[in-house]
Amino acid sequence: MIEAGRVAVVTGGGRGIGRAIAVRLALEGADIAISYRSNDEAAEESAKLVREAGVRCEAFKGDVASQEDVDALFKGVDEAFGRVDILVNNAGVTRDNLIMRMKEEEFDEVLRTNLKGTYLCTRAVLRKMVRARWGRIVNVSSVVGLVGNAGQANYAASKAGLLGFTKSVAREVAQRGITVNAVAPGYVETELTGSLPDKVKDQILGQVPMGRFGTPEEISEVVAFLAGEGAGYVTGQTITVDGGMVMQ
Ligand code: NDP
Repeated sequence: MIEAGRVAVVTGGGRGIGRAIAVRLALEGADIAISYRSNDEAAEESAKLVREAGVRCEAFKGDVASQEDVDALFKGVDEAFGRVDILVNNAGVTRDNLIMRMKEEEFDEVLRTNLKGTYLCTRAVLRKMVRARWGRIVNVSSVVGLVGNAGQANYAASKAGLLGFTKSVAREVAQRGITVNAVAPGYVETELTGSLPDKVKDQILGQVPMGRFGTPEEISEVVAFLAGEGAGYVTGQTITVDGGMVMQ
């Protein structure tokens, strides 16, 4: 349950898992700000779906890894809603390659979006949350950050880095009524994974006890729990949502 009047910011809310999270939090009654990088049409569709849930929604275009864009995002959120209670750091990219062929740009782009973006957005909201003595931060990692994946050393490093980040920030703000947790999805069918060759998809399915990919809605369900009032004593945790792929 999310208390009425809460405001949630979902980065990368224009498509895929972020859209499902935005809609799910809206169904709980939270007003929603979506951030996205470039796809205006997709972000407008997300905003429309969120508003259909009966809450306010604004979409903000910008790069989560740019300080200037993050300043503009949270200034916009402040002007539109006047508060931020929930932050979901979901924006993420892949640039897959075997490590011996991986270009420096491929490494840097993934690290800056997935990890630096989370740092900038988290830093931007924390002061307000500390003042309000309430906050929920949920970082979207990946099972790849737990077990690694050939061809994704950059992505795995960013997603494993997010887990260390989550635990450290959770410790820093634990006495302020703010929780910081991570979800680690398994393979979910979105545009991020849509381009995988069928052979690779079959190999992945062979590792999933449930024998199917997850849906964005199944990830959003766990995010909604962590973002809610009821999860107030859960912090620094990573919850895998992966059909049983990684059992800890
Ligand atoms: P999509 O590629 O479908 O959507 C990514 C979203 O992030 C888009 O809205 C995109 O904006 C936005 N985005 C990308 N880069 C930036 C940036 N620099 N600044 C702001 N917004 C940005 O991805 P998914 O929904 O599949 O993935 C969402 C998250 O879940 C990612 O962190 C991903 O790593 C993680 N994840 C996904 C899994 C999967 O199987 N799909 C598995 C495990 C984790 P725009 O639409 O404008 O391009």
